[in-house]
Amino acid sequence: MKSFSYTKSDSVVLAVNEIAGDNAAKFIAGGTNLIDLMKENVARPRRLIDITRLPLDKIEDTEDGGLRLGALVTNADTAYNEQVEKRYPLLSKAILAGASPQLRNMATTGGNLLQRTRCYYFYDTATPCNKREPGTGCPAINGYNRIHAILGTSEQCIATHPSDMCVALAALEAIVRVTGNNGERIIPFAEFHRLPGDTPQIDTNLQADEIITAVDLPTKGFAKNYTYLKLRDRTSYAFALVSVAAALEMDGDEIKEARLALGGVAHKPWRNTEAEAMLKGKSATRENFQTVAEAIVRDAKGFGHNTFKIELAKRAIVHALKQAAEMEQ
Ligand code: SF4
Repeated sequence: MKSFSYTKSDSVVLAVNEIAGDNAAKFIAGGTNLIDLMKENVARPRRLIDITRLPLDKIEDTEDGGLRLGALVTNADTAYNEQVEKRYPLLSKAILAGASPQLRNMATTGGNLLQRTRCYYFYDTATPCNKREPGTGCPAINGYNRIHAILGTSEQCIATHPSDMCVALAALEAIVRVTGNNGERIIPFAEFHRLPGDTPQIDTNLQADEIITAVDLPTKGFAKNYTYLKLRDRTSYAFALVSVAAALEMDGDEIKEARLALGGVAHKPWRNTEAEAMLKGKSATRENFQTVAEAIVRDAKGFGHNTFKIELAKRAIVHALKQAAEMEQ
């Protein structure tokens, strides 16, 4: 690990000024991903700015009836928050499907959004990797790619985003609040993470001088009919091969609205709103769910070791929708 300097910041404005003035600096909060990246020499910041003192550790109601998760609220505090459990149980379930209790006690809302891929080649500095060093190549495409993406890939990178929490936030249509030198702005969750394209080294649309301050949950929480289905190689402490956040608004057997987001299959939580719309006004039958699942994976592409994910994703979507539709409240 390279040596680095360490400072603490007491205000959002100061933190933004500090990060804007030093392109070799990084914010650190829970450190559950950044420390690993530093130990492996994948991240080599010259300076760490500790933001754990910033006043961003609250969960509060928003004026429009939603809920605001401060960027520094830990994943455990979010998952077990009474309002989140009651109004957004999909989010609680997704968070508790991820990592371990120790990690969830440290990991924060903002850090969860910014965690980097767990592609083995990305962490191995002895191998090339376009995400770590642009232009060097992507050994995963013709290498061992069991955990890699099947949707939204590029010739530059086929990595997946590892978060469970973000899959639920995508389905709930959360909003990311950020502050930078030009003031505050909001980023719809669907626009926060990027596909790899020709710039796989850039994971998100957060600018270099910006800090995440909160994630807002809209009023609608789909608390009656939802599920988070996570399929993985081990039953705990493993990243998703495929996960599905499914949320339905039902009127009897009729689907009024459907939300679906997939994890483990793309460089960002994967939504296909056209496929979701196919369920509107339909009854909750296996046939209708299968039609949607087919539509979602229509453009999927396997790379050998991960080709099984296409069928797995289809089955997971059908199963998750069935679970969500049949929930008894
Ligand atoms: Fe690097 Fe992406 Fe290829 Fe993995 S998939 S080796 S992160 S370029």
